[in-house]
Amino acid sequence: MAMVNGEDCCVKVAVHIRPLLGDERQQGCKDCVTVVPGKPQVQIGTHSFTFDHVYGGTGFPPSSMFEECVSPLVDGLFQGYNATVLAYGQTGSGKTYTMGTGCKDGSQTGIIPQVMNSLFGKIETLKDQAEFQLRVSFIEILKEEVRDLLDSSYVGKFEAVNGHVGKLAVPGKPPVQIREASNGAITLAGLTEVFVRTQKEMTSCLEQGSLNRATGSTNMNNQSSRSHAIFTITLEQMRKLDPSVTESAQTEDIAGSDCAKRTGSDGLRFKEGVHINKGLLALGNVISALGDEKKRKEGVHVPYCDSKLTRLLQDSLGGNSRTVMIACMSPADINSEETLNTLKYANRAR
Ligand code: ADP
Ligand code: MG
Repeated sequence: MAMVNGEDCCVKVAVHIRPLLGDERQQGCKDCVTVVPGKPQVQIGTHSFTFDHVYGGTGFPPSSMFEECVSPLVDGLFQGYNATVLAYGQTGSGKTYTMGTGCKDGSQTGIIPQVMNSLFGKIETLKDQAEFQLRVSFIEILKEEVRDLLDSSYVGKFEAVNGHVGKLAVPGKPPVQIREASNGAITLAGLTEVFVRTQKEMTSCLEQGSLNRATGSTNMNNQSSRSHAIFTITLEQMRKLDPSVTESAQTEDIAGSDCAKRTGSDGLRFKEGVHINKGLLALGNVISALGDEKKRKEGVHVPYCDSKLTRLLQDSLGGNSRTVMIACMSPADINSEETLNTLKYANRAR
């Protein structure tokens, strides 16, 4: 567990190991990842790593990941804490399944559908005390460009390719520009935000946006390892007793930022593994800087500006927020090198 500003619980790291797939068994793959019983500890070859939580692994009971890692974050939203859940790992390691953003896989058991359940359940129990307004946005970051997955101009631009729904090659709109307000808040200019009243409406945004991704879960091309998707739920809470109080703040946007100046000004770089892309590299550097108490005391700069991913997550990673990173991994021996990289990366976040 990392601590930020002396506060408990800022970044927690969990590992999710998927089972060997039928195909992998047929190819004769062996399970090369061992979970130490009763401990959040993973072994691969001679390496051993300890995290906040470990889920999955052969012979282990079904996951209580949502209850342990994510449910407290949903509760925190109602007290004004931001929350971020991040899944990462090589292609095919189970990110889509874990988050529940695929069309069929994990659509019930994945984290985002469970967040929605929990959120709407809580709102129902609190509706006498407060009024709630929910909105969602959904973006994809690909090659350092931000695409708006809920942009209605995408609707109707899909066709079935080899039985899979895919995106046509022609992009709908130019990429969305990142702005930094005078108070440092990061916003995306012109990003679609959809107001939702029901769980069904929110689910439909998740599904529609997932279809709009350039890289579907069935589409195993090499771009998918460079694509990050961020689904954002904004909850505004207005207490009925005092209608003047709201949890959200309005900001005035100005173009440009001092990010360019700061790029590259820190000495920390993560060199593990050629497959870790720019966004993840920068994310690792940010989390490492946030999590290292000694460095923080020395005032080491947190390098948010090194990638679009970290700039957009800036408000979610530092300050008033709680983050869970879920390292997804395959247990198959053919993936052992990538799995070791994922574990090292996750370990660095602690
Ligand atoms: P990624 O999004 O990281 O590329 P996916 O989520 O698409 O990976 O998972 C790859 C394959 O593994 C899919 O067929 C998915 O159904 C399967 N899978 C992933 N995680 C699990 C799990 N925990 N249990 C069972 N099957 C899983
Ligand atoms: Mg995926």
